Amino acid sequence: MAAAAAEAPEQMSKRKLGGEGEEAPVDPLATKRAASGSDVPVPMQVDYGQVMRNEDFSPELLRIYYDRLFPFQLMVRWLSYRNNPKSDSKLVEKDFFFRREWTFVLQGDIFCRYQCFKDADEFRQKVMAQQPIRMEIGAVNTHPPKNHHTVMKDAYKPLERELVFDIDMDDYDSVRTCCKGSKLCTKCWTFMKAAIKVLRRTLTEDFGFHHMMFVYSGRRGVHCWVCDKAARQLSNDRRTAVAEYLTLVAGGQGRCRADIKMNGCEQLHPSIEESHRICLEYFKEGENSILQGQDILRKGPHLSNILDGMPKVESDVISDFVNKNPEATSLAIWAELEKLKAQRVQDAKSFKQKQDAKVMLTDIVIQYTYPRLDINVSKQMNHLLKSPFVVHPKTGRVCVPIMPEQIDSFDPAKVPTIGALVEELNRTNDPRQTSMKDYTHWFEHSFLKPHEQEIGKDLQLQPDFDF
Ligand SMILES: [Zn+2]
Repeated sequence: MAAAAAEAPEQMSKRKLGGEGEEAPVDPLATKRAASGSDVPVPMQVDYGQVMRNEDFSPELLRIYYDRLFPFQLMVRWLSYRNNPKSDSKLVEKDFFFRREWTFVLQGDIFCRYQCFKDADEFRQKVMAQQPIRMEIGAVNTHPPKNHHTVMKDAYKPLERELVFDIDMDDYDSVRTCCKGSKLCTKCWTFMKAAIKVLRRTLTEDFGFHHMMFVYSGRRGVHCWVCDKAARQLSNDRRTAVAEYLTLVAGGQGRCRADIKMNGCEQLHPSIEESHRICLEYFKEGENSILQGQDILRKGPHLSNILDGMPKVESDVISDFVNKNPEATSLAIWAELEKLKAQRVQDAKSFKQKQDAKVMLTDIVIQYTYPRLDINVSKQMNHLLKSPFVVHPKTGRVCVPIMPEQIDSFDPAKVPTIGALVEELNRTNDPRQTSMKDYTHWFEHSFLKPHEQEIGKDLQLQPDFDF
């Protein structure tokens, strides 16, 4: 912790509430607390409605995690994109990784921005010295971030950065009926599954990106990192355009239909059609679906909001059905709505009637299931985002990648805590035998390697890796 106190004052700041990446004056007390390392966290009430066990997170566990389990080498490999400083190739940018900004968040919410490292050894040394509670990743800049004050103000700027997305469960609070705030259960995790599947399809098929990784944020959300070169080089304007293309739903109480525009076409936009197909499964199918798990047509204002937007003759049909069948499930009420839609499609004569019939339930499915992105995270190249494989201090859980083949079976409650990992380590004394290996193995072999092979061809590099 002594190294933290030695940092130049302008590189430390206490984050303003909600101001991602913004700086505020240093709080001398907080700096002192973090530097002395005496502010030991106590057990606290966290998600899942459970009390976090004392042994899930502590500074000592974090120290062991960084010392023996955090994948420094793989992280440097990832963020170098084969720009190895030791390479002979003229196409390689040798200081590429060194120009990447990292931010360390020390205990007491103290932000140390403009960190950068030459290689995995230096990265490891700095982490071990400062013991950050969290690390955030910024952009690759024109100059190494630690030298940012040695060049003219406008000369230092971000050049590239992964396209990132942030989905937080908070944005579903007007929809979910099972939990609120920081709580999370398998029922509301369904929203995240649908969001990942929709984002994945759209980014792959509509934008042609292939090298993306979804990461559990350690508590109640998911981050997406799109790493294709074309994505990394997008300007802020284009990032904004992509994020807006992926924004179909406005949140807020009382909304029950997405505003789907047909723009004079007979068919829905193919991207919306495909997203709807994915959303419908998570909306309807299975005990944790939005209809069955959240029971939205029997709880809260949702059914009356939906009926308010329908012609009286139709809403009366549903109201009658609900009155005559007080035990009817949300799924049974939905089946009645589907019958109404089928009737409307059959009766539609004018172009407008046909269009209205087509989206009659689609806009509801989209509103309740489509991903709700915090698009401010995606718009700016230099926005900081929490690094994969760091630990969430309030749960002790590692921010692990969510493997594509496990999206449907992924259970955040089963993600290892550093307490559990250190216990495994104590049993075997072999870091390769802990539960981390599943995630780091996927990260290396299924995420990094295929991308590195592709980059290797572009940079005319030898097929073997020298990292
Ligand atoms: Zn829940």
